[in-house]
Amino acid sequence: MWEFTSPRKIVFGEEALDYLREIEGKKALIITGKTVRKLGFADRVSKCLEEAGIETRVFDDVEPEPSIETIVKGAELAREYGPDWLIGIGGGSNMDAAKAIWALYERPDIEVGAISPLIKLGIGKKAHLICIPTTSGSGSEGTWATIITDSSGRVKLELASKELVPDIVILDPQFPRLMPPRLTADTGMDTLVHSMEAYVNQWRNDFSDAMAIKAIKTVFEYLPRAYKNPDDMEAREKMHIAATMSGLAFGNAQAGIAHSMGHALGAIFKIPHGRTVGMLLPYVIEYSAKDAAGRYAEIARAIGIEAGADEEAVEKLAQAVKDLIREVGLPLCIKDMGLDWKTFEGELDELVGRAIVSSESITNPRVPDEEECKKLFACAFNGKEVDF
Ligand SMILES: [Zn+2]
Repeated sequence: MWEFTSPRKIVFGEEALDYLREIEGKKALIITGKTVRKLGFADRVSKCLEEAGIETRVFDDVEPEPSIETIVKGAELAREYGPDWLIGIGGGSNMDAAKAIWALYERPDIEVGAISPLIKLGIGKKAHLICIPTTSGSGSEGTWATIITDSSGRVKLELASKELVPDIVILDPQFPRLMPPRLTADTGMDTLVHSMEAYVNQWRNDFSDAMAIKAIKTVFEYLPRAYKNPDDMEAREKMHIAATMSGLAFGNAQAGIAHSMGHALGAIFKIPHGRTVGMLLPYVIEYSAKDAAGRYAEIARAIGIEAGADEEAVEKLAQAVKDLIREVGLPLCIKDMGLDWKTFEGELDELVGRAIVSSESITNPRVPDEEECKKLFACAFNGKEVDF
């Protein structure tokens, strides 16, 4: 038996935010971070809600990679205020925080770490959750996962429950329009990796496939446009939709080793997530294609690559990803991220250790052992083709 979990409603397109003027309720708690608040985004949300006769309060303490303490603080405020709507607005961190605050608001008897697919949370009785992404990449608005950092700041808790998927998602291109080109590139590459890893994953299914392939086509067509011209509203809107489709794809399949290796690399060397996973993707394609050439060839043909045998299609697909990375001004190997081999080698065992135990490694079409993972990191460091 399989399931496809998704938000109840996705409102999208120009002026999608106006949907908030139609909702019914008494109080809303807006959950966000300082940067998003400074951009005036939370105020725009408040204004629409007030027009709907809903009183609002803003919790703007969410930091990048939100901590357990922040979640507890947000949940305490929610319990004191008693909202019937929670609104998470921002990038992945803010939306992840809103999901976890929602769980603890309704379940004061549990701790953050207890959120799991194995327990029934029974949430949705006090409040409903709306997510409004302001970047086009994390896909958090389409998934039932939330990543929270423990008190030491070193361990990321990857928590999940199907009950955490937002009720409503609002995709309004006015928000990603303000992303600077570098952020457009980083988040856009994250979207591509989510959808490509979902499409070849061992847990893929017909529904996730449809979302993934459409998102992949969209990224190749519109990411360069959104990167070069921030005011290209058609490109902004298409990329915003693709990010959520990718969230639905990998949320219902799984990501792969560009993510397990990328999480380790990003955490140890403090490199932005999308830049890390995007850089790794061509190497991961070359490696994983040994067990999934047909699937990669399908992707290649979907984006218009002409090739005879599947192997040729895979090779051209890896090249097309490299061309896209170059076009949006991102690095193609770890060396080009400003790291020297000695520093990198010193952390190699730690990187491999973290990457291979991740569930994202286990569901990848080809599952690397320690030795292979080390070799893959070395290829990605030097920009060398993967030939094993
Ligand atoms: Zn990602």
